[in-house]
Amino acid sequence: MLTITCSRCGETKEAMPYPPFVRQGAFIQAHVCPDCWQAWMEESVRLINHLGLNLMVPADAQRLQQYMREFLHLPTS
Ligand SMILES: [Zn+2]
Repeated sequence: MLTITCSRCGETKEAMPYPPFVRQGAFIQAHVCPDCWQAWMEESVRLINHLGLNLMVPADAQRLQQYMREFLHLPTS
């Protein structure tokens, strides 16, 4: 089993079994635990609705990407 130290909660846990189906999925799998990824999934839905983001618009997709990096405390790749 692959274990990772999560960049958000700091705990060492089992990694997600598969990379999430997003940009940089393998990078996220290596840095974020399943629980924190789930938390981001819920937060991203909230943000998209709250801010009225349209992910087909590159600027909006980039904005959400930035929120994700901050939410998950992702290291700079
Ligand atoms: Zn975590």
